[in-house]
Amino acid sequence: MTDRLNVTADVREDDEFDERLTTEIVLSHFGKHTLDELQLSDHMPSVRALGCVLAYLRSTQMNGLERLNHLNVYSDVQYMRLDINTRRNLELLETMRSKEKRGSLLGVLDRTSTAMGKRLIRSWIEQPLIQPAPIIARLNAVEELVKNTVLRSEVREALTGVYDLERLMTRIIYGSANARELRSLCLTIGAVRPIKEALKGAGASLLSQLEQDMDPLQDMESLLSSAIVDDPPFSVREGGMIREGYNPDLDELKLDLKDGKGIILRVEAQEREKTGIKNLKVGYNRVFGYYIEISRSYTGEIPPHYIRKQTLANAERYITQELKDLETRVLTANERSVALEYQLFTELRSAVAAQLTRIQKTAAAVAQLDVLVSFAEVSARRKYCRPEISTDGELKITGGRHPVVESLSDAPFVPNNTLLDDRDNRIAMITGPNMAGKSTYMRQTALIVLMTQIGCFVPASEANITIVDSIFTRVGASDDLASGQSTFMVEMSEVAYILNNATRHSLLIFDEIGRGTSTFDGMSIARAVVEYVANPKKLGAKALFATHYHELTVLEDELSCVKNYNIAVKKRGDDITFLRRIVRGPADDSYGIEVAKLAGIPNDVVTRGKEILKGLVEAGEGALLRPTISAEELPEDSGQLSFENAALSALAQELKELDVNTLTPIEALQTLYALVKKAQNL
Ligand code: ATP
Repeated sequence: MTDRLNVTADVREDDEFDERLTTEIVLSHFGKHTLDELQLSDHMPSVRALGCVLAYLRSTQMNGLERLNHLNVYSDVQYMRLDINTRRNLELLETMRSKEKRGSLLGVLDRTSTAMGKRLIRSWIEQPLIQPAPIIARLNAVEELVKNTVLRSEVREALTGVYDLERLMTRIIYGSANARELRSLCLTIGAVRPIKEALKGAGASLLSQLEQDMDPLQDMESLLSSAIVDDPPFSVREGGMIREGYNPDLDELKLDLKDGKGIILRVEAQEREKTGIKNLKVGYNRVFGYYIEISRSYTGEIPPHYIRKQTLANAERYITQELKDLETRVLTANERSVALEYQLFTELRSAVAAQLTRIQKTAAAVAQLDVLVSFAEVSARRKYCRPEISTDGELKITGGRHPVVESLSDAPFVPNNTLLDDRDNRIAMITGPNMAGKSTYMRQTALIVLMTQIGCFVPASEANITIVDSIFTRVGASDDLASGQSTFMVEMSEVAYILNNATRHSLLIFDEIGRGTSTFDGMSIARAVVEYVANPKKLGAKALFATHYHELTVLEDELSCVKNYNIAVKKRGDDITFLRRIVRGPADDSYGIEVAKLAGIPNDVVTRGKEILKGLVEAGEGALLRPTISAEELPEDSGQLSFENAALSALAQELKELDVNTLTPIEALQTLYALVKKAQNL
């Protein structure tokens, strides 16, 4: 379809637009007899929405509705479900922060050459397929274009000469296209021919199909090239558009225009011959235009049809009907030629508009080829591999990389493996320090699955991808204060949405759950979510689950389908090095304080953090946020002291300040008892 019209309509019970009427509107618009022919018989709400939209467009648009001549029924059966959060979180078309294409998946995959390809690649990325056959068809085409570098570069080169056929046709149908645009259409048709030729020997069935869909449009090309000059003007009302030889009347007018003087000289010669008057002259003045001047001595030989107009001293001036006709012809030649050119041009434009369906089909084929070539170009340059498709539930990626991080970073990307299946590996529980690469790893897995299902090769050395019906992501914390939701409320709403909409064929990415509330609440919710997702009787979906709650790693022992992974780091003294490698087992530490140090948190804060942490670890969970020594109690130079030393010196201070002489025996015993207790707690 030239123009994509996404119909989202609020269908209300409304007498005027009942089922019968909207069905009639839809059928008559598409020239069909039954809804079956439009694959709409099971979609009555859609029929009503479409009928209302068509009726609205009919009443508000003067023309152009004929472009909506083909209907694509969008349904969950054809495309992967990707909700708005997931599209945003996976940065499919733009980055989350700066909303730029660079840094998004589109930024990596888009090497298209045409405006049509640029539009199509966006919708392919947002609408991954879920049926194996069309995915495999795309992958076969991409594989052929990856391997056949000659074919790929030939097609790429030819595509650069292809204008935006869809936009051109919109302007042609609306009657707003000028001659330059018809010329561009003509050149584009010329550019499509070598593409069609190049595809003739292609083996992949999708490429052959596209070759067949490309109409050579030779009739259009010869019509346009014979009619429109090479470099037509912008305006359609000033002539100069139509080529010589296209229309005899126009050629004659142009000749008159060029040859006004010649015509008059020819009349002069003709009249001299007819009358035998040798000094007969044809002249022109502003008062009565062209005239024939004859000297007085010949007045007796003047033909009767000469009409006298002016008498001079030695001559008489005459006009004839024929001379007046010629005058009109010469003087109005410009006006008439401009008008005729406009008429010829509009006829031509309508003739092209009548070929809409053929041109649309060609445009659609060119756009698809452009995207496939773009996928192939990126796959070849970035050393992507062809993924194998399955429906057996196993998702196995060897040496997977994040397509965007890899493309933007100068540092080498460390490849990682992924294994998820419907048995013992349904849930990968990923722990590891901040900054280790957990989010990158989970997103790369989601992107590899998505890239597979749009028919592109993937950044991995090997990939076996089971088709998923949807990808859901819950990533990071974000407020939606404008709509009155707190960070935690947003987080929980997103989790609720996922749990209510995912199926066991979905892939879920949870990058932290339960961080926006108290530790115990958060941990409990997180654990309950994992249990729900893991349980085939409840949800049983595949999931990657990153968490800083190490307590959740015990689930590997309790649920057979949970496997622990962590991202390896190397620790030397206080310093840590991120190895970026995912390995089996839980992480031994969060290294939160080390990462805070790397981020530039002041030394005093880092040291104090370590002291508090040590105290907490030793005192157990109940002591959270109640360190045995408060910040106020710390001596000035406590930055250099360990937690134990600080506590000891506080004890010493207390002893020093004790005046034993003033204590009663019972008080002395109680004080001693309290001091011993404190010392035991150190
Ligand atoms: P946090 O827990 O703080 O959210 P994280 O573990 O999710 O951190 P990421 O944000 O995934 O960490 O990764 C941090 C940075 O590390 C990324 O911006 C990326 O540049 C780099 N990185 C991640 N994985 C790799 C990798 N496999 N190879 C090279 N660099 C990587």
